[in-house]
Amino acid sequence: MATKLPRMAFFKDRIVPYTEAHVGLLTHALNYGTGVFAGIRGYWNADESKVLVFRLTDHVRRLHESSRLMRMKLALSEEATARAVLDLLRAEGLKEDCYIRPLAFYSDETIGVRLHGLTPALSIVAVPFGLYIDKADGAHCTVSSWRRPDDNVIPARGKITGSYANSAFAKSDAELAGFDEALLLNRDGFVSEGSGENIFLIRRGVAVTPSLNQSVLEGITRRSLITLLRDELGMSVEERPVERGELFMADEVFLTGTAAQITAVSRIDHRPVGSGQLGPVTEKLRTLFFDVVRGRVAKYRGWCTPVE
Ligand code: PMP
Repeated sequence: MATKLPRMAFFKDRIVPYTEAHVGLLTHALNYGTGVFAGIRGYWNADESKVLVFRLTDHVRRLHESSRLMRMKLALSEEATARAVLDLLRAEGLKEDCYIRPLAFYSDETIGVRLHGLTPALSIVAVPFGLYIDKADGAHCTVSSWRRPDDNVIPARGKITGSYANSAFAKSDAELAGFDEALLLNRDGFVSEGSGENIFLIRRGVAVTPSLNQSVLEGITRRSLITLLRDELGMSVEERPVERGELFMADEVFLTGTAAQITAVSRIDHRPVGSGQLGPVTEKLRTLFFDVVRGRVAKYRGWCTPVE
């Protein structure tokens, strides 16, 4: 998927043309994966002629929490980071659905792997964005031979750039073998998540998702959907270890994330999930989710920050 380059970037406390935001080859984060990032969606609301940013403060909070894992002291507060996202969006001027990428990274141009005595920098860019997984109605997934790093290897709760080498291993092996996405098991052999998504399954009217101690990212879409499943669809949601075999016996499986939104899984390792068709809970939840993110549900309007 080719990404159209942005016009502008927030870079080292200023908004500059994207082409002027450079890092040197020795940049610590580029060499050692010592960065943390966020992926946020902005949804174009045509009625209001505005982009609505979904759960901006939650994404900014997770970025700052992830930065603490990396011993980073970010110059901007959470409030100032959120303001910088909105300033950048105003400067970029997108009038369509978009993806926003804040990145806090150790910017020192120096040799030596460590987390201390380094200086973080913050960049933010935004690009137009559509579907991340084309087959949103039914992806074919495989259980990867790669395991998700354990919390004592690199905590999966945080969104650390270096961890994404693991996601890249799994995603490429899956795609090159003809699948749409990889599902990773954790150290103990329980289901953790997709290469860039949390996972839910529906069985006998109950929704199940791996608990946060199963080597998963603390997904903001995951948290939003737990609320919608419980409070709007009246379903019970279990957060617990999930066995691989449960995936194959589920009525419905779907992946959730900022990029993937709600992507139905129709097959796993050549076995149909449930009927193999888009399931009723997935469909209902997805319709509700899109109403929420586009700002059409008053109760959840607080999750949407308009770019004024
Ligand atoms: N897990 C991983 C590994 C991810 O990269 C993502 C995407 N950020 C998610 C889960 C979903 O998280 P969120 O809903 O906050 O985007």
